[in-house]
Amino acid sequence: MTREVVYNKYEIELLELIDYAIDFFRKGMEMGEVPKDFFDTFSKKYEFIKENVTRFANERYDIVEFFEIKKSEASKLYYDDTCLHCKFHSSFRPIGNAVGAMGFTFYLFNCPKCNKNFLAQNPFDMHENLAWVEHEIIRISKEDAHGNSIKNSKNHTPEQFENLIKGYLEFKEEVRKLDEGLAANKVEEERDIQQLIPLIAELKGLKIMVEEQQKNDEIN
Ligand SMILES: [Zn+2]
Repeated sequence: MTREVVYNKYEIELLELIDYAIDFFRKGMEMGEVPKDFFDTFSKKYEFIKENVTRFANERYDIVEFFEIKKSEASKLYYDDTCLHCKFHSSFRPIGNAVGAMGFTFYLFNCPKCNKNFLAQNPFDMHENLAWVEHEIIRISKEDAHGNSIKNSKNHTPEQFENLIKGYLEFKEEVRKLDEGLAANKVEEERDIQQLIPLIAELKGLKIMVEEQQKNDEIN
């Protein structure tokens, strides 16, 4: 994994500046221009900051990676579903995706039995799927003028409906936790960035000063 994936641009800039500054003062110390005490304190302080930046970035990355895997289940190649045309139930490999009911996006499958294409029963996006299941619960619970509903029809048992609700509530809780975790991660990153900005400014000032000095030395 590349540096750009794990660190944000503030962290990358700070890590580079720290390496630059430590290197600059080390050379100064070796030439006898910088006291050893100063170098030791300076490098200790910034090596510690570097360690923290690295640790925070990696922790953040682990969280994002965990949630991304959960969210997309990208590694999954086959999905259990039922062909809408011939009711063939199997594991299908998506051949693409398409916008379907409610404007949601569904996987598109090709049925090997009847050779027709059909959309998955549920949209693949987590939030769309949650809204989809909610819609389904309302649809089958809705009573007509006689008090009849799909849920109460002879094709459905009360147990089926209970399982649907149970699954829905578990899924809703999982989505809530994922959203909350990602939001908290984002807030933490913002807070970290606010602490990095003054450090970046300080070291950037040093670098500019050194470069100006080197330019002047070259001219003279
Ligand atoms: Zn089929």
